[in-house]
Amino acid sequence: MIRNNLVVSLVLAALALSAASLSARAGDRAQVPERLTWNLADLYPNDAAWTQAKDALQKRLPEMAPYKGHLGDSAQMLYGGLSTVSGMDKDLARLMSYASQLADQDTQVSKSQEMVQGIEQVAAQFGAAVAFVRPEILAIDPQKVDGFVAQEPRLKDYKPYLDNILRMKAHTLDPAGEKLMAQANGQMAGSAEAIYSIFTNADLPYPKDVKLSSGEVIPLLDAAAYTKYRASNNRADRDLVFKAFWGRFDEFKRTLGTSLYSEVKAHMFNKDARHYGSSLQASLDRNNIPTTVYKQLISDVHANLPTLHRYLKLRQRMMGVEQLRYEDLYASIVKDVDLPFTPEQAMDLTLKACAPLGKAYVDDLKKGYETRWVDFMPSKGKKSGAYSNGAAYDVHPYQLLNFMGGYDDVSTLAHESGHSMHSFLSNKNQPYITADYSIFVAEVASTLNENLLLDYMLKNEAKDDATKLFLLGTHLDALRQTLFRQVLFAEFEMKMHEMAESGESLTGDNLTKLYLSLLKEYYGDKDGICKVNDLYGVEWAYIPHFYMNFYVYQYATSMVASSSIANAIREEAAAKKPGTKARDAYIQMLSSGSSRYPIDLLKGAGVDMTTSAPFNAAMKEMNTVMDEIQAILDKKKA
Ligand SMILES: [Zn+2]
Repeated sequence: MIRNNLVVSLVLAALALSAASLSARAGDRAQVPERLTWNLADLYPNDAAWTQAKDALQKRLPEMAPYKGHLGDSAQMLYGGLSTVSGMDKDLARLMSYASQLADQDTQVSKSQEMVQGIEQVAAQFGAAVAFVRPEILAIDPQKVDGFVAQEPRLKDYKPYLDNILRMKAHTLDPAGEKLMAQANGQMAGSAEAIYSIFTNADLPYPKDVKLSSGEVIPLLDAAAYTKYRASNNRADRDLVFKAFWGRFDEFKRTLGTSLYSEVKAHMFNKDARHYGSSLQASLDRNNIPTTVYKQLISDVHANLPTLHRYLKLRQRMMGVEQLRYEDLYASIVKDVDLPFTPEQAMDLTLKACAPLGKAYVDDLKKGYETRWVDFMPSKGKKSGAYSNGAAYDVHPYQLLNFMGGYDDVSTLAHESGHSMHSFLSNKNQPYITADYSIFVAEVASTLNENLLLDYMLKNEAKDDATKLFLLGTHLDALRQTLFRQVLFAEFEMKMHEMAESGESLTGDNLTKLYLSLLKEYYGDKDGICKVNDLYGVEWAYIPHFYMNFYVYQYATSMVASSSIANAIREEAAAKKPGTKARDAYIQMLSSGSSRYPIDLLKGAGVDMTTSAPFNAAMKEMNTVMDEIQAILDKKKA
């Protein structure tokens, strides 16, 4: 497809339940009330109608043939070619949505899986039929393209799409070179990740029997088990779990280092072949993000390490330990509060929390809930996790949830509703070709709603200090993980590429050395704020995101941007700065799809990601949260 707008929820800390434990508690789909299921009939009334539409699309594929080799002939030919591709792509996205969502609601139904395979075949044929479009556009002189746009007004909608292709001209090879690149990437690009994945999922001999202080013997067979036991409330057990788990990774650091080095070498190959100055630049250029944004983020974090250290000291106080250690960071610092919610309450809270975004936003979302955008309940065979899918341009967005009734489930609804409304507004206001949006802005829309929800809960629903502490503590941990842990990852990623680009080989040993030095610096080991055992320097080997080519920094930039925008909107709503300027600018961003570049879209919404201002605002928020927690703790003591 020429666009890609399925936003799968970014899994940060919220790995709630594994699919297995979920389905053990889940009932039959047939028992779920209809109002809590999504209405796929809005896409196609039934499977037969879907099949008919799929066959019709397949028959239309040859319509592209007359444009091949002629896109640069005239404005009419260019418009004809682009509108034909775009029209077919739109139908394909709708067909894909129906089949994949049908398959996701019950993965055990083989007919749905066959439908997915069927439409994937059509997608592959479509891809082959339109593969010439991009290279042909690149071959046209940019001035000639501008002339075409001036001549044919209907081409105006396609201008951002054309510009985005043409700006890559300097990094595009001749047709033979591009063919070779496609072959090289197709054959080899995923190899390192595939090896890493199979090794860590299937072959790595994880510790089978860690004996806890209670006498219980537990297996640490995967990341899910590690994630569970590292949060143990018993310090001696956390110690055991960390040593056993990282000890095992340490034994295999040579293999894992070689694997990661191979991934980095693939990035370097791309950088060299496409004439970029660095792998970082090559990666960020895909979304036209300047490398200064990345570097700014890292230097902002360094300048704000005292805020992280304040957090660590607060954690030390709340845990009542003399010396905080790295293995103490996942134990809960606040008591879990049982806050059960029904789906109706979750919708109601999300709508109320979104009030600062204006009546129109709330009304549209409410209507979406009422007309069954959302598939709420877990059931046997349903796909785990959560996502929003806004690909069906002419219909409406959909959400898949696995709602269990906790606060994190309400938060997930708010998050996915942020994505859905982003899709809804962009689809409504943009032509198809620019209705899609990039990840860099996508997670702003979702985390902003989480931010509004938390604020609403604290002001209106948290009746006692225990609930307040729970909400604040949960938020504080999310800020710590996103703004510091993820940026540490981002810095490690940048530095390992720099090492390799300057000719140094990457090995398990020097990757561990680099990672450990960052851990010690971030967590204030030297000053005794949080002690980091040298063994934990191998943590890099556990992070699959390092195979995603400079991806993780966007977790941090999204949260920084959304925190900044949410704050501005709240100030307006509280009439500190009367008006609706911040809100209007934000709704405008949500309505703009990819008609502008991500950095410009955010600038329009009031955040300049090339400066320190948004990060500083997020730090202010984090410090305010800590002030509030401290005030509650001091009150308790008094
Ligand atoms: Zn998301």
